[in-house]
Amino acid sequence: MPTDRVAVEALAEELDGLRPIDHHCHGVVSADLDRMAFEDLTNEGFESPPPGTSHLDSPVGLAIRRWCAPLLDLEPFVEPEVYVERRVALGADEVNRRLLSAARLSGLIVETGYRASDIVGPSAMAQLAGAPTFEVVRLETVAEEVGATDPSASGYADAFREHLHVRAASAVGLKTILAYRGGFDIDPSPPDDGAVAEAAGRWFRAPEPRRLADPVLLRFGIWAGADLARDRGLPLQIHAGWGDPDITLHLTNPSLLTDLAKSFAGLGVDVVFLHCYPYHREAAYLATVLPNVYFDVGEAITYLGTRSRGLLAEAIELAPFTKQLYSSDAFGVAELYVLGATHFRRGLARILGGWVDAGDCSLDEARRIAHLIGVGNASRLYPLERRDR
Ligand SMILES: [Zn+2]
Repeated sequence: MPTDRVAVEALAEELDGLRPIDHHCHGVVSADLDRMAFEDLTNEGFESPPPGTSHLDSPVGLAIRRWCAPLLDLEPFVEPEVYVERRVALGADEVNRRLLSAARLSGLIVETGYRASDIVGPSAMAQLAGAPTFEVVRLETVAEEVGATDPSASGYADAFREHLHVRAASAVGLKTILAYRGGFDIDPSPPDDGAVAEAAGRWFRAPEPRRLADPVLLRFGIWAGADLARDRGLPLQIHAGWGDPDITLHLTNPSLLTDLAKSFAGLGVDVVFLHCYPYHREAAYLATVLPNVYFDVGEAITYLGTRSRGLLAEAIELAPFTKQLYSSDAFGVAELYVLGATHFRRGLARILGGWVDAGDCSLDEARRIAHLIGVGNASRLYPLERRDR
């Protein structure tokens, strides 16, 4: 072992035992997946790859073959075809159980508002992962559920508040996907009742199914969510940065929500910017200067593969160690939960161990920082003790 990497190696061994809280993820698909279905779930786009190419010919595909193949009794870097065949031979339930337990998580905070009928819910995820799960409720899904009940335009605001109250009864957090519904370049103030009723009327005259994209109703939902979040001590998760092609990337820069974040600080509501890439430095800045702002680099940490180390290094370079969290944002395939946690442990060991080896940090401090980002900050931010499933 080269002498200048002593702490890196020591920390890598120790952090292998770190069981992070995955503070934002979804459920897995319970059905067996053929090659195309599997590939499609390892890419944020909606389309299959061009003929003659594969979504797995990517950093995340390489990482799946490196880190997940051995968990299915295969050699690292086995051909994708062999990998998918082995998946089918083992069966989805066995694959999900092996991979999710191999992620070695101490808790999963599961967002239930996206394609809920295609994936398993929080209780099944707890069984598969061998760890407690908690729920985060998506505000826009709540709005669309209300929209489907045909309330009057003037009754929409109250109907939304009542339904949110019920849907979030056991939730540990709320989430908005404003990023997917036009982006962050919005008026940050709460709309008045008249404007909400007028916008609701317009929305209800639109053909079904009613997808919420009206900026007034989106703002209303976020502010109504903030009221509930304040009353119940819940943080508000905000999708920022990259995602599927419904996003216009440059409109998802968290910097655009600076005024909104400041207003929520006044209310005492914490916000967590999720994913953030490639705007994780803007998120880190906001987390540094605003007391109520937190962030993660979830999902990107999975998809960047070996370069996730560089992403983590940038995420940790400025913000207080108390303001960053770990998430995978995994959805659909269990590989993504393992990869998120694996890259997180390995990346932190390299970065913090490097600090120790350079004389900038002690081993004890490095351990403490890793624990804060992996476990401690999520435990402090979310009311987990009240809502264990
Ligand atoms: Zn998500």
